[in-house]
Amino acid sequence: GTPIPGGPLAVTFDDVTFSYESGKATLDGIDFHLEKGQVLGLLGRTGSGKTTLARLMLRFYDIQQGEIRLGGVPIRDTRLRELRGRIGMVTQNIEIFQGTVRDNLTFYDTSIPDERMIRVLNELGLDSWLSSLPQGLDSTLESGGGGLSAGEAQLLAFARVFLTDPGLVILDEASSRLDPATEQLLEAAVTKLLRERTCIIIAHRLATVQRADRILILDNGRISEFGDREAL
Ligand code: ATP
Repeated sequence: GTPIPGGPLAVTFDDVTFSYESGKATLDGIDFHLEKGQVLGLLGRTGSGKTTLARLMLRFYDIQQGEIRLGGVPIRDTRLRELRGRIGMVTQNIEIFQGTVRDNLTFYDTSIPDERMIRVLNELGLDSWLSSLPQGLDSTLESGGGGLSAGEAQLLAFARVFLTDPGLVILDEASSRLDPATEQLLEAAVTKLLRERTCIIIAHRLATVQRADRILILDNGRISEFGDREAL
């Protein structure tokens, strides 16, 4: 496979068309470019194709037409493991598996020292959560994240991203309201996340739209608007 460059990644969709089954295209002629380090706010009503667009970058599905490039490299030429390692995903349904906090944070990457995990958890405001656990990083989490609040689960997903330090982050914001203290922690986490990374945010909050460099609005699988936030 062709190696993907390090650091923040430019993103190019070159006339991408995709359908899940034969028939109507779920995404139709998607064409846009993000410079490295830019923040894209991705908007559109339910069913317009936002999640599909995000998943295509991870090569969950093969596209029927066009090309997606990350850092100038066509993703179909990359090694899947490397591609997925360079993209950080924070979704609303966070995959917590039965295992220790440490394993949930690192996916068994033993090269990440405990001190770094603790520092990241502290920075995200999860220090009191961590100290409430019986065995710290060795404590066991339940599959599905039972016992975690929605906010804590999202913050853990942020912690994963900070530990792997990907060149592109895809963030599907929580659409439900969280308590004000958690909201504040998440806001701070997003601010930190946007620094020095290319980000695509499926935006449910006005505050997020306001800090995007570019806005893309999907309507029924097509781009209805793309450009500077201020120009739209
Ligand atoms: P939401 O805001 O509700 O999450 P979305 O903008 O993310 O919506 P997608 O989830 O990308 O939209 O869905 C786009 C279209 O593709 C919808 O019509 C949906 O029904 C369809 N779709 C999504 N996933 C699949 C799938 N696995 N197989 C077939 N069709 C699918």
